[in-house]
Amino acid sequence: MGFVILKSFANYIDAHILLGRLEEEGIQCWLKNENTTTIMPIWTTAIGGIQLMVNEDQSQRAGDLLKKFEAEKKKVTKCPECGSEDVEYINTMRKPVNWLSAAITFLAGDIAVMPEQRYHCFSCKSEWKG
Ligand SMILES: [Zn+2]
Repeated sequence: MGFVILKSFANYIDAHILLGRLEEEGIQCWLKNENTTTIMPIWTTAIGGIQLMVNEDQSQRAGDLLKKFEAEKKKVTKCPECGSEDVEYINTMRKPVNWLSAAITFLAGDIAVMPEQRYHCFSCKSEWKG
């Protein structure tokens, strides 16, 4: 019985949320690289993030569930500025400025602080916390 990567995450909180939801649906799954990423958040992207591994036999169903969850998330999310539904949940660690602040946080020894996630609106470019 093999396992395949369903999705990669840069944030362990998101990974855990999805893991829990898939387990509720009876999908056998686990997180790879989780320990490394939690201890060394700044290395997350370098090592490919946290990978959500699912039972190969259930990967088709897990993929369908993933699409369903993402569709649900999109459906309930609207931009507070312009009301557009053309929004996406993003990880701010993708941006250099936040990589820098993450590095400072890391060097300061506060490794408990995780990258922040926000919603981004493609219509008016505004961002806000979920
Ligand atoms: Zn907007």
